[in-house]
This record gives sequence, structure tokens and C-alpha cells, in this order.
Amino acid sequence: MTTTNEKENCPADSVALGRAAWTLLHTTAAYYPDRPAPSQMDSMRLFMSTFADNYPCFKDFKQYMAEEPVRVGSRKKLSEWLCKQHNKVNEKLGKPSFDCKLVLDRWLQGSLKECNQ
Ligand SMILES: Cc1cc2nc3c(=O)[nH]c(=O)nc-3n(C[C@H](O)[C@H](O)[C@H](O)COP(=O)(O)OP(=O)(O)OC[C@H]3O[C@@H](n4cnc5c(N)ncnc54)[C@H](O)[C@@H]3O)c2cc1C
Repeated sequence: MTTTNEKENCPADSVALGRAAWTLLHTTAAYYPDRPAPSQMDSMRLFMSTFADNYPCFKDFKQYMAEEPVRVGSRKKLSEWLCKQHNKVNEKLGKPSFDCKLVLDRWLQGSLKECNQ
């Protein structure tokens, strides 16, 4: 899984799968409650852990989670934690780091200028 293949009805490569997976993860975090109930915190821990166990090919995410466990205390904490984990992958791939102060602008409010054009 090393090339880009976003053709309709074709298997996803690492780039297409990665974009889709980050969209799912960040959007899920963006809609997580500000004040989650204990059952929601347990459920989110389980979701992230099973995601990391099952995401194809790249096992570093599991290692990152072992080093820095998921923060499920609130939407902001979860979104910032996920942003940090994404930045670890970005760094590994030589991509620019994302400013985690903007993570909810990017994934919830859509207030970055390109969303309003
Ligand atoms: C858990 C996981 C592990 C991965 N591990 C690998 C790997 O080991 N090797 C590999 O080749 N690929 C890996 N990928 C795929 C890789 O991270 C990218 O998704 C892929 O290379 C496509 O990159 P992209 O430049 O389109 O943007 P992506 O990194 O997919 O990001 C999508 C969008 O998210 C936003 N964004 C960028 N950084 C952040 C951030 N820190 N926080 C919030 N939003 C952000 C930007 O708007 C960006 O356009 C992994 C993906 C996931 C989900």
C-alpha cells in the first residue's frame, strides 16, 4: 500500500485509506461530548484501542497509544490528543506538523478560510 489510488470502486491505498481514517477519527473526536459520561469514556477507550489493533499495516499508532494513553475526559482533550498522535505520524512521514490549537476549527467549526469560499 504505497501509491495513491482514489479511483472510484478501486481498493484504497495507504494515502486514500489514511485520509479516510483520519477523517473518521478526527470527526468522531470533534463530536465527542464536552462532558462525557463514564460509559462514553469507556466506549471511546475501547474504540481507539480496537481501531489501533485493527488498522491495516501500520502498527506505530498502537505504540504511540501505549506511550501516551488516549485522553477521554472531554471533546477538547480527545481532539488534542488525537492531533498529537496524527502529528507523530506526520513527523515520521516528513509532513508538516498541524497546529493543534486549530483542531476543532478544522474538524468541527469549519472556520478556516478555505471552508467559506
Ligand atoms: C492511525 C494511522 C497511522 C498511519 N500510519 C502511517 C504510516 O506509518 N506510514 C504511512 O505511509 N502512512 C500512514 N498513515 C497514512 C498517513 O497518515 C496519511 O493519511 C496519508 O499519507 C495521506 O496524507 P495527507 O497528506 O493526505 O493528509 P493526512 O495526514 O491524511 O491528513 C488529512 C487532513 O488532516 C488534517 N491534519 C493533518 N495533520 C493533522 C493533525 N495533526 N491533527 C488534525 N488534523 C490534521 C489536514 O487538514 C489534512 O489535510 C496512517 C494513517 C492513520 C490513520
